Amino acid sequence: MKIGVLALQGAFIEHEKMLRTLGVEPVEVRLPSDLEGLDGLIIPGGESTTIGKLAVTYGLVEPLRQFAQTTPTWGTCAGMIFLAKDIGIDRQPILGLMDITVNRNAFGRQVDSFETDLPITVLDDVPFHMVFIRAPVVTGASDGVEILAKLTDGRIIAVQQGHLLATAFHPELTDDTRLHRYFLELVKSYSKKLA
Ligand code: GLN
Repeated sequence: MKIGVLALQGAFIEHEKMLRTLGVEPVEVRLPSDLEGLDGLIIPGGESTTIGKLAVTYGLVEPLRQFAQTTPTWGTCAGMIFLAKDIGIDRQPILGLMDITVNRNAFGRQVDSFETDLPITVLDDVPFHMVFIRAPVVTGASDGVEILAKLTDGRIIAVQQGHLLATAFHPELTDDTRLHRYFLELVKSYSKKLA
């Protein structure tokens, strides 16, 4: 299985470490040609405006869009913003693939970073330790979007739409490998479907 990690900016090294822990050697994606032959892609957290600008500079926006249209892709935090169709009034390059509305920097200054433990529907019952860093939330999702996790106040923080996965928090900053394993399973089931 070949998994790429978009390595323009942000927490890509942490995702790579997580993948290595699970026995997968990641491919760093910086150029369109790096996408060739990948079975899945992770778009890390960081700063979505910077990731967007760099993706434009490296001619990656359209190749990434085409890739993620058909191949399992998981965006964490800024990666969630990058995958969304609607991010409100901000004008910044995004892939616009998931039928979700995302509110960037949804938590006020006082609590712009926090950690909490909550269950995720597609995992076992053990709550997941979630690290939020100037995180977005999903404020709207259309019918085809499955909601995987919510904060206790009901705000949506993890979603899946077919082969696309998005989480507002940073699983790569914990030592819980369950979501990475879930993504690898998703990749496996998709490559089987195509085979
Ligand atoms: N606030 C960042 C943004 O808007 C996302 C933060 C993160 O990825 N941890 O892109």
